[in-house]
Amino acid sequence: MVRGDSRAFPVEGVDGRAVAAALPAGHDRQMNPSAAVRAVIFDWGGTITPWHTIDHREQWTVFARGMGAIACALNDTATTVQRVEEDAWRRGRQEGVSARLDEILAAVGLDPADPATLAGLAAYHGFWEPHTLTHPVIPSVWEELREKGIRIGVLSNTIWSREHHRGIFERDGVLDLIDGDVYSSETPWVKPRPEIFLGAAASLGVEPQHCVYVGDRSYEDVHGPQSVGMRAIWIPHSDIPQEQRNGKISSTTRGRGRQAPDGVRPPWSRGAGRRTPRTRMPRRARRRVGARPAGAHRRYRARP
Ligand SMILES: [Mg+2]
Repeated sequence: MVRGDSRAFPVEGVDGRAVAAALPAGHDRQMNPSAAVRAVIFDWGGTITPWHTIDHREQWTVFARGMGAIACALNDTATTVQRVEEDAWRRGRQEGVSARLDEILAAVGLDPADPATLAGLAAYHGFWEPHTLTHPVIPSVWEELREKGIRIGVLSNTIWSREHHRGIFERDGVLDLIDGDVYSSETPWVKPRPEIFLGAAASLGVEPQHCVYVGDRSYEDVHGPQSVGMRAIWIPHSDIPQEQRNGKISSTTRGRGRQAPDGVRPPWSRGAGRRTPRTRMPRRARRRVGARPAGAHRRYRARP
């Protein structure tokens, strides 16, 4: 998907063309550290919900078993769906395009409405449930922010639907604390594409310079929001697999900002974030984001 995409943005009151048209050339917006904070937008996986290391293979084995597959058919189904899902996430990192669970299943010839597929999906979501729990501190944090007049947003890179994510928030008793939520599965884009951050701000009715974004990924969750003028808070508590890191941190602003090197920056973000002052990262933080030995992540956190 390219800048200027005309697909409707599936959030009430937000139009995809308007979001794209709002982007200045190079979509490089200046952050204003003195601008009042009117909204805080949260990433989901590893931020609202604590980081868990997930066995990607196992989720699709559970899915295939739930479908009733056995022996070679079980193994083939799990292998095929896993490969297509990984390709979808890879396209997101490299091209900035989103994906949806139903599309992934359809791509391997499974009808998402077929009873066997639905049984597989029930098993799949059962596998995921213990990894979707909202962090216990979130309700009090959000209530405190709302008491100060600050709006609460959610913006997640996910293949799951809005309905599914909102069901998780409802289960955990925090849905009514959310003022605006955007899921990449309902847009053409993924973080760190600037369009999706502008859409998240628009869903809250707040200008980007009055938004703060909170997330666990330095590239998607810090470089992305800063490219549209948001401030960003990086919570590096997650064990992000090396293959999911779109470039390494080369600079910070007091440990919070970052800027991707030109060589690894995808084409849609050229010029973004260049006004971020270059400072040297603390040694502990550099070690945290440093390269891991090959094969260090056979098990890794899935997104969502
Ligand atoms: Mg995350």
